Amino acid sequence: MKKMNIAGKASMLTAIFVLLFSTLSFAATVPGGPSTEGNTNINSMLSYEEVVKTLKSIEQTSKGKVEVFTLDRFGKSEQGRSIYAAKVGTGEKKIWIQAQIHGNEKLVTEAALQLLKTYASNNSKEVQTVLEESTLYFIPMYNPDGAEMNTRGTKIMETGQLLDLNRDWVEGGFKAKESEVVYSYWAELKPDFAIDLHHQGLKQVYGTNEATSFSLGVSLAPNGPTLPGYKNYNDVTRQMLAYVYDEMSGYGYTHIDRYQIVDSENQVGYDIDIKGGVVSAMMMGLNYNGLNPDHYSHPAVFFETKGNSSDGSLGQKSNGYLTKQNYLALKSLVYGYVTGEVNEVDPEHWNDIPAYPLAGYWTDYNGIVPVGASGF
Ligand SMILES: [Zn+2]
Repeated sequence: MKKMNIAGKASMLTAIFVLLFSTLSFAATVPGGPSTEGNTNINSMLSYEEVVKTLKSIEQTSKGKVEVFTLDRFGKSEQGRSIYAAKVGTGEKKIWIQAQIHGNEKLVTEAALQLLKTYASNNSKEVQTVLEESTLYFIPMYNPDGAEMNTRGTKIMETGQLLDLNRDWVEGGFKAKESEVVYSYWAELKPDFAIDLHHQGLKQVYGTNEATSFSLGVSLAPNGPTLPGYKNYNDVTRQMLAYVYDEMSGYGYTHIDRYQIVDSENQVGYDIDIKGGVVSAMMMGLNYNGLNPDHYSHPAVFFETKGNSSDGSLGQKSNGYLTKQNYLALKSLVYGYVTGEVNEVDPEHWNDIPAYPLAGYWTDYNGIVPVGASGF
């Protein structure tokens, strides 16, 4: 297909390409955002050791409901840390929830642990339904080394290379041990559905002066170049996001929009279409190392919470609010999924989630693809 001739913009876009999944808007001059002058207090966020401790304490108090284990049988992180997982529920539908594949995106781990705790200890009808209908698999800290270093990626010990783990599930990838470990587990487990948790930089809800607090995304753009080719995922993922959007509005949360790379100067957005992302590989049924010969696949969505802990865009004051929002969105989606409520949503309702006018697709295989381009 034809390349867009926007050389100047393209190079600027390329420059921040590596920030994908934790986007900085082009002009990061959002008024009213939390200001910590670059000094995010990460003491209030969970370290690897604290996550392990929390997991074990949830397991202990769960009266056998929660099982905590490592993925050591598949290997450890580059720096030799165990990657932890937790399992809860007895139902048939397998739900995969992963957090902190980017080490400087910390509140999502807290949200995942809070949800696990709810399932471990709460006996409400809603929780019972979820645990009867599904089994949930949590990976609350996918990137323990990055979490300890407070960096987005991880460091490949053999080469010293810094690597974004969310670009490593791809042919020619799997450079990091973490990718091998988690992929092997995924290929063995074959979940039915996955949710991936992230943080993003500051942006504004289109047409407002409000900073986005939460974005809902699919890593292969709905109605984009790739997703419509994979089963019913183009509809299912839109139904899921529209469902969460409605639920969150019901809780009084606003300032929620669709995840996009925003060109704030021109007030347009780009939907992402990233094939090397972990949840994209899940939807495309990647067969790495012969571990998924039938190309098993399933739908997946991701959430982006405002701010991260290395650019100083998180304030301690807002952390509780942001974690709660993430927790409620997760909890709602899981419930909607297991009860089938999600399937009642009109996929076109996805269009009602605020978004910038679509200028194109931001890909990791063909640069920026303008809307309406053909020839894939
Ligand atoms: Zn991220």
